[in-house]
Amino acid sequence: MPRIVPDILIRHDPPGEEAGVDLVPVVFDSPHSGNVYPADFDFAAPVEVIRRAEDAFVDELFASAPKHGAALLAALFPRSYVDVNRHEHEVDTLLLNEPWPHPIVHSHRSARGLGVVRRLVRATVPVYDRRLSVTEVQARIARYHQPYHEELQVMLDDARGRFGAVWHVNCHSMKSTARGRLRADFVLGDRDGTTCDPAFTDLVATCLRDLGHSVGLNHPFKGAEIVTRHGDPAAGRHSLQIEINRGLYMNEERIEKSGGFDRLRQDIDRLIATIAGYCRDRVTTRTARPGSAPRDCAPDRTAGSG
Ligand SMILES: [Zn+2]
Repeated sequence: MPRIVPDILIRHDPPGEEAGVDLVPVVFDSPHSGNVYPADFDFAAPVEVIRRAEDAFVDELFASAPKHGAALLAALFPRSYVDVNRHEHEVDTLLLNEPWPHPIVHSHRSARGLGVVRRLVRATVPVYDRRLSVTEVQARIARYHQPYHEELQVMLDDARGRFGAVWHVNCHSMKSTARGRLRADFVLGDRDGTTCDPAFTDLVATCLRDLGHSVGLNHPFKGAEIVTRHGDPAAGRHSLQIEINRGLYMNEERIEKSGGFDRLRQDIDRLIATIAGYCRDRVTTRTARPGSAPRDCAPDRTAGSG
């Protein structure tokens, strides 16, 4: 049974060794796929525009993680309400009707209206027709942002405590185009090699390319608060951000799955298996079992279709 904190998060742990699943020190998290809109959101922008900020269906794409011995955490609230991929003091002062009572963490994101609570949903579309109070923003951080990070921290600490190291994949989606140009199928972000072992980034990139996908590295997305906060490779904590091109699996205007969804989910399943095998090998050299780790990432196209 998943652990559910209503309106906040859902956590899926692997079934465990008694169910014949080898646990692996791997945690996936989907911080932006939530669509439970809080009653006090009080946004003014059109709901269909607000909803396009969701990383819709990303949690479903990674839903097979527990079957491979990994854990999966997903936010239930929308990122447009409060964004866990921002520092809690990454505040856009133009959003507020009074000064923020803490030192502000400045970033190019908050300067564009995309701070911990968004002021803009698109470059020129305000989320609200009013300014927010400090109390209102702080309540969102206390009720949603902090519990999400605390849950993720516990999951990462548990895995690292048990295995001595943990690999964390922070899962997102991106618009299919930027300035009229098609983006890569995937963009991996390790903040220029600082939030995980570069060998892990290489593993994921190679697997995705073997599956026929184009992969960009650290551009235009290099990772933000979550991988910065939880990645510390020298301490055995590896965090990698993965952005998936929405054009592969959904209609971006209508926020509906497309015919490509099942095919992509199969590819993600192969990726999860490859990551699980890699991480299992890295922590179980003393009890290595030859042939137990799935390394082959070649596409298996015998089942299903795009
Ligand atoms: Zn995202």
